[in-house]
Parts: sequence; structure tokens; C-alpha cells
Amino acid sequence: MIYLNNKLVPRDRARISVFDHGFLYGDGIYETLRAYNGVVFMFDKHIERLYRSASLIDLNIPMSPDAVKRAVYKTIKANRLKEAVIRITVSRGAGPVGLDPALCPEPTFVIFATQFRKYPEQFYLKGVKITIADTRRNYSGALDPRIKSLNFLNNILAKIEAKKKDAYEAIMLNYRGYLAEGTISNIFFIKDNVLHTPSLKVGLLDGITRRIILDAAKALHIATREGSFKPRDIQGAEEAFISNTTMEVMPVAEISSMKKFNGPGRITRLLHKAYKQKVADDTRRRGE
Ligand code: PLP
Repeated sequence: MIYLNNKLVPRDRARISVFDHGFLYGDGIYETLRAYNGVVFMFDKHIERLYRSASLIDLNIPMSPDAVKRAVYKTIKANRLKEAVIRITVSRGAGPVGLDPALCPEPTFVIFATQFRKYPEQFYLKGVKITIADTRRNYSGALDPRIKSLNFLNNILAKIEAKKKDAYEAIMLNYRGYLAEGTISNIFFIKDNVLHTPSLKVGLLDGITRRIILDAAKALHIATREGSFKPRDIQGAEEAFISNTTMEVMPVAEISSMKKFNGPGRITRLLHKAYKQKVADDTRRRGE
């Protein structure tokens, strides 16, 4: 079952217009969430970011945050899911051809929830290969990466590069050549026992997983540094990993034609353990 506008409909009847500006122009926003044991993790943070993205493109979400949360749980329950990946998509809606948002009186609002499929165990035991893409991250002054927008071509171009190099993820540099983020993930590396990650000022999505990891590091007394880093900085690192809501903390084994790591490092493993502990604590408490 899919939640479409204000009701649940069977999957094959969940249809939207070919004139939807999400389809015509990538005009819209989305969030990807994860439910553990039927409880949505970091729900408020995702809802906050959904509304922030909407406000940055002048899009009015036609429901209150609480109503969106209820709709998400309704969708999870209707699909009888416990371990789920949920996507909330809000597009400008259908309207005549033309860029003016006022052409679309009603946004299109969609939630779907699917069974979470585990990543192969080897990804965590050995790590994944990544590459540094030639495609640069959108310049923030042109399309702010803080907007989790439906316009994903920048990331798709980098993903195409990754596939050509047989890499799992591509890390994009910003227009000045500083490490920014992956196509669907944030990047971290550990050098001299300090956890490094590009700062938001470089121009990247403020990942919710990223923030949890930084907080976990502080709690574990691991020094952290958010800043502007070049590819050579990660080349000199002892460990690296990527993060997002579904991957959690995924170790990097290799950076294509640049660097090989010695399996998942100690700090990467510690941080993933702390992340899992937070999931267990938060989802248990809310589920009670
Ligand atoms: N960066 C980009 C471009 C993303 O698309 C995502 C998530 O899909 C992330 C980072 C990680 O964000 P989060 O940890 O909130 O899932």
C-alpha cells in the first residue's frame, strides 16, 4: 500500500500525473527514513529536514508534521513491516508546463515503505571500494546541497562514474576541490586518531547519521574535526567510512587507484557499535 495525497491506495493504483512538476523538472523534495522493529529512528530530525527542504524551495507541505508522522506509521502498518525503509516525497504537484510554482495549486505527497534489505555482510567485514568522482558537487550558490531535492542528476552523474570504476560509492569534491560527500552518503576518515569529516560549509547535506556519529565520537572522547579537506588528506588516513540512514557506518576498503585500507579500523568499528547502541536505546524507548 502506498500513501498518496491523503489516503492509502494499493501499489498498482498509486498513480501521479505526467504533468507533475516533480517529473517534469525535478521540482520537489524527499526524505529516506529507517524503521527498526517498527519504530522510526530519528523521526523528528527527518521531519525537521523535510520541512526545511520544503521551505528552501518555497513549497508548502499540505499537512502538519504530526500528520506526516501519523501517515508514515499508517503506511508501515498497512504493509506489515518491522524493518523498513520509508521514503516521503513531496513534489510541486501537477500543473501546466512552465516553471512558475504558482502553476501547481496542490503538491503531490507520497509515502512508501518497503522491507529493509540487509547489505551484504562482506560490506561491513571487509569494507567497500569508493572513488573520487570527476563530477563536482553542485555549487551551493546554484543548488544548495542542504536541500534534499528530487533533482538528483548531479549525484547520478557521479554514480555513473562510480559504476564505471566498479566502485560502490563516488565521493564528490566541491567546486574548489575540497571533499564534500558521496552520492547518497557522507564521508569520514581517521587520521592520527582524529575523526575528520567535511564541514557543512564545504556544501553538503547535513546527514542525520553524520551528526549521530560526531556526537558518538565526542561521547567516546575521540577527537573530531569538521573542516575543508583535499583528497590527499584521505590518502594519508588510517581508516575511512561512509554513512547514511540505511548503511549506518560502512567501512571503506579502498579508494580507487589511490589507497587501500587494512580492513575496517578500530575507530570505525567503535563508532558503528555506538551507532547501533543508539538505535537500540532510542527505538526501544519509543516503542514502549
Ligand atoms: N548526502 C547525500 C547526498 C545523501 O543523499 C544522503 C542520504 O541519502 C546523505 C548524505 C546521508 O544522509 P542521512 O545520514 O541523513 O541519511
